[in-house]
Amino acid sequence: MQQKEDNLKSIISHAKEYGFVFPSSEIYDGLAATYDYGQLGAELKNNIKAYWWKSMVQMHENIVGLDSAIFMHPTTWKASGHVDAFNDPLIDNKDSKKRYRADVLIEEAIEKIRQKIDKEVAKGLKRFEDAFNEAEFRATNPNVLRNVEKITEIENRMRETLGNNDLDGVRNLIIDLEIVCPVSGTKNWTEVRQFNLMFSTELGSVAGDAATIYLRPETAQGIFVNFLNVQKTSRLKIPFGIAQIGKAFRNEIVARQFIFRMREFEQMEMQFFVRPGEEMKWYDYWKSERIKWHKALGIPETSYRFHDHIKLAHYANAACDIEFDFPMGFKELEGIHSRTDYDLKQHEEHSGKKLQYFDPEINENYVPYVIETSIGVDRMFLAVLSSSLKEEQLENDTRVVLSLPAALAPYKVAVMPLTKKDGLPEKAREILNVLKFDFNCVYDEKDSAGKRYRRQDAIGTPYCVMVDHQTLEDNTVTIRDRDTMEQERVAIEDLAGIFTDRCSMKTLLM
Ligand code: ATP
Repeated sequence: MQQKEDNLKSIISHAKEYGFVFPSSEIYDGLAATYDYGQLGAELKNNIKAYWWKSMVQMHENIVGLDSAIFMHPTTWKASGHVDAFNDPLIDNKDSKKRYRADVLIEEAIEKIRQKIDKEVAKGLKRFEDAFNEAEFRATNPNVLRNVEKITEIENRMRETLGNNDLDGVRNLIIDLEIVCPVSGTKNWTEVRQFNLMFSTELGSVAGDAATIYLRPETAQGIFVNFLNVQKTSRLKIPFGIAQIGKAFRNEIVARQFIFRMREFEQMEMQFFVRPGEEMKWYDYWKSERIKWHKALGIPETSYRFHDHIKLAHYANAACDIEFDFPMGFKELEGIHSRTDYDLKQHEEHSGKKLQYFDPEINENYVPYVIETSIGVDRMFLAVLSSSLKEEQLENDTRVVLSLPAALAPYKVAVMPLTKKDGLPEKAREILNVLKFDFNCVYDEKDSAGKRYRRQDAIGTPYCVMVDHQTLEDNTVTIRDRDTMEQERVAIEDLAGIFTDRCSMKTLLM
């Protein structure tokens, strides 16, 4: 655990030192759970968004994009259920005065039991080595079985109490599990209360209820209210999807853990409209498509796992998360939800407008069912950053390298003259001026070549192009690879082709 916390600390300080992420309004000592993306962070974030948009919108004939307003008519949030039910159950520890999400405390307790099971399995593997049959071990080992039973029991109680809004029941579960406050170490808990996560503000100069509007807590509702606008103008046939990337706001109670949980963040959401009754097929389809999207980045597959929701949201008939092994452990990175026809029906009811589709294939009008994929840009940023940052032991040295997937790297190429004289800088700039149309490039001539390479390693630039005296004679340069540190000599005219093959978005999308 300590090791993991230290990892998070080194990611935060690396992100700050190299211009990826700064605390917001830092000169005023920052604002809790709000961050600014610096010069390199903005590039990485844009590349993540471009990868998602390209893959979800432009690579699918039946998915289109949208960019709806952050402010929406207040009835939207009444209809969607957010005004009445977008709550987190809170509990305070009376000794430390720290506030926690009750559901998160319980989930962490479950995770601890899960880790016990993993330890037991690891012990079995060590004992039986090659003869070890993990599936059989899990199905028969009494310690594993006892713990699995414990987890099921806790999950059932959690589902029941949270589902029925039985806050005393939630508190009793915390007491029964003997959960202690990580700060004070005591079990001196308050009652559990519900807290609404939406930020509200006032429209124009009128105060009071009538003018209260909300900062959207999710981008999805902008898609639902535009469902017919888009369907009619695009003439798309079901099944089809509408995607959007945009800011969302939640007054998170416990907002620690860097950019993992912020009060202002960005989402990439896609709502896929399907024929009622076909939603489970599409739910499975999008689960498999989305995990493919993640795996194409080359991050180890063991960093991801699916987690079915214990308590389904009021609108869902199936839901799971893609969890990622963040420095703080496995946590939600993306949600995939089968939202039924709940949202469209609610908007029909509250607006009095029909939000239906005429399906020519079956000659029927219906309110479509919806599968949603929803991923936070900032959590994806943290996933990519934390899985890429490494300290490597070299023969006589160590180096810090950010082995970002090349297509996401802020700079694809650093162009460098070996020395600052003999016409080498001019030649280097000439090369950069051609490459910059297709790739984000940076020019660097200060310090020794070794130091410059290290600098580019630390910000994740996959390739350095070194211009030397031989370049002036035969128009060749060396390319130095960030990950292998190997160098190859190539013709200048081949550079664009090489970098396209190795760094373009196509490498992820094929
Ligand atoms: P959590 O359980 O972690 O609070 P959630 O289940 O409320 O998340 P969703 O409502 O499913 O999250 O939102 C979809 C996605 O938006 C999440 O998978 C996550 O990547 C992102 N997200 C949600 N809340 C935040 C936040 N406060 N900061 C950053 N990203 C967030």
